[in-house]
Amino acid sequence: MWPSSASTSDGWPSPLTSLPRAIAHVDCDAFFASVEQALRPELKGLPVVTGKERGIAAAMSYEAKRRGVVRGMRLSDVRRVCPEAVVLPNDYETYGLFSKRLFGILRRYTPDIEEYSIDEAFVDLTGTRRTHQASYEDIALRMKAAVESELGITVSVGLSLTRSLAKICSKERKPAGFVCVKGYELKAYLAHVPADRVCGLGPNSVALLAKYGVRTVLDYASRPEEWVRRLLGKTGVELWWELRGRAVYAVETALKAPASVSKTKTFTPPSGDREFVRAQLLRNVESACIKLRRHGLALKAIGVHLTTDEFRTSGLSAELSRATSSTIRAVEAASELFVRVYDPARRYRRTGVVLSELEPDSAGQADLFEDAVRLAKLRGVSAVVDEVNRLYGKHALHLAATDGLRSYAQHLGERGDHARRKIDLLRGETHRQRLGLPVWEVRLTR
Ligand SMILES: [Mg+2]
Repeated sequence: MWPSSASTSDGWPSPLTSLPRAIAHVDCDAFFASVEQALRPELKGLPVVTGKERGIAAAMSYEAKRRGVVRGMRLSDVRRVCPEAVVLPNDYETYGLFSKRLFGILRRYTPDIEEYSIDEAFVDLTGTRRTHQASYEDIALRMKAAVESELGITVSVGLSLTRSLAKICSKERKPAGFVCVKGYELKAYLAHVPADRVCGLGPNSVALLAKYGVRTVLDYASRPEEWVRRLLGKTGVELWWELRGRAVYAVETALKAPASVSKTKTFTPPSGDREFVRAQLLRNVESACIKLRRHGLALKAIGVHLTTDEFRTSGLSAELSRATSSTIRAVEAASELFVRVYDPARRYRRTGVVLSELEPDSAGQADLFEDAVRLAKLRGVSAVVDEVNRLYGKHALHLAATDGLRSYAQHLGERGDHARRKIDLLRGETHRQRLGLPVWEVRLTR
């Protein structure tokens, strides 16, 4: 069932095994805070905390961590434990650009990259030694150095035989750490790693294992397979193999197709303006359809929901006669639902849309009763919209129905703490339409 090469009769890698497979886990250190420090070198060495606009610490630099600031802490508490903290609003747009650059740099070494989260990736380096004329460790170290010098942030890298092991390794020496564990070092290494460091063993599993005297990862991986299966089931056994150096989980290079796509947006102050609320909803539909097409999917069902200023949510959904990826089709359906859900006596603070029953978007043949010309036109419109928005920024080309959003100042400046990127606009930019330029290159000209 499992590959048996280079392993001993007890299933552990043989004493000579180094890296039959080489999986790296790359994890940025204190990502949001590091990006802020990279953009503003004067912040380096200072305790930086992001999350000002929400009143909760989202990310913090290591200087802030050392003073006791933790994720999710209220800002009033942050100021108490660390009065000198530099508190900034989250700037997701810039973090997203850094994230794209990160994955781009990693792809120079191999196309086998899994974008695991905004600041983490799995990299399957297996088979790349000849191309790079270097050992796996050297390739991983080069990758790390390239990210750090080009982005100005630090990353921690773990390198081992499987994903689960690589992830344990990358946590070992944060920040800016590099840990490589080869097959013949595995048992000795795992003997000092506590079981709660395994991604996939939650607090309940760890507590259960502790009852049976399992405290380290080696304790866990040394138990018989059947014992693990009885206690933790199939997932437990998969992890057990991964921790013994046999890859069960592949590095998933394709973007995972979502089961549904939803977009929700809150605005302040709440509004009783029908056209404004409708425009908010349709903007969500536009955004959701863009994402849908990026995944090459079409929707068969659509749901809309509206939330009042008293936090009551009502919604409706509908099924379409034919799957579509067209914003125009989705907007038609959403508009009909909106009419039935909207209550003029209420004020709303949030709108949302859910696209579901997704299927691959095939040009497919129209059946006898469908207007094939219209279907082809809709498809053409979507392609043009996506291309224009790719070139000029998301929503540069949008529905007339959502154009009104530009004239509403309602959700601009209300909370007063927008990211710098949203305040310092370039010529030709508006708050909603910004050029997709990397800000750190633009700033050099100032
Ligand atoms: Mg991280």
